Amino acid sequence: MTTSPSFADLTTIGVGGRIARFEQPTSRVGIIEAVEDADGKGVPLCVIGGGSNMLVADADFDGIVVRDARQEIVVLDEAAPVEGGDTTVHISADAGTNWDDLVAFSIQIGLEGIEGLSGIPGTVGASVVQNIGAYGQEVATSVFAVEVWDRESKVVRTLSSEDMGFGYRTSALKRSMYASAGNVAGQRNPFFPTPRYVVLSVSFALRHSDTGVVAFDQLARALRVDIG
Ligand SMILES: Cc1cc2nc3c(=O)[nH]c(=O)nc-3n(C[C@H](O)[C@H](O)[C@H](O)COP(=O)(O)OP(=O)(O)OC[C@H]3O[C@@H](n4cnc5c(N)ncnc54)[C@H](O)[C@@H]3O)c2cc1C
Repeated sequence: MTTSPSFADLTTIGVGGRIARFEQPTSRVGIIEAVEDADGKGVPLCVIGGGSNMLVADADFDGIVVRDARQEIVVLDEAAPVEGGDTTVHISADAGTNWDDLVAFSIQIGLEGIEGLSGIPGTVGASVVQNIGAYGQEVATSVFAVEVWDRESKVVRTLSSEDMGFGYRTSALKRSMYASAGNVAGQRNPFFPTPRYVVLSVSFALRHSDTGVVAFDQLARALRVDIG
């Protein structure tokens, strides 16, 4: 019999209690099934990425922890700059993709928009939950659409950047973990500790360009260039 890892094994800070059940689906339908299994049984669900933004209690977690094992990155319109002179190129990545792998890939093929977010730990799925940012860049400005499983309506939805309600280190997804319509003050949110919307994939609109825009004073000074 294999034992499930604990949160201490799955989070970068290395603390957290034992987990009743751990699933690592390798397909889109597998993710939805694992989420539905937990929600159908009414047991707590934690969808985890790299575990780099979670501080978990030492108590046992009597629920299901799901980690998306998919890591595919697809260029949706690679020829756009050549065909029509449009500098926008869309790429899509599975929620389980390592964030820094996506940044490195986009730089390698000459795309600009998320390079300032290099080195941030975690996954593509979580990047849009907290709207990661660094050096004057935020993921929100490059997100084109987010494909999610809606745990309430039980359908796959495509959320636009506007639907995502991005704010400083927050989004509609993050807010859905903590509040819901009709929630009585102090009552536990039924989706916590995972958003109502589980991210399946994210597509980004990046620019084909030899140069980037430096928007952060410290970075501009280090590179000896002007802001902008
Ligand atoms: C050393 C260090 C440096 C950091 N630097 C920065 C920084 O510069 N800028 C910055 O913005 N952040 C930074 N962070 C925070 C962290 O990297 C980000 O919040 C990152 O997006 C977390 O990704 P993760 O996959 O580890 O998320 P996790 O910690 O696994 O999860 C975080 C939350 O997202 C939810 N979640 C995860 N995957 C999904 C999914 N597929 N669908 C729905 N919900 C999901 C989880 O349920 C959880 O609530 C840093 C963290 C560390 C440890």
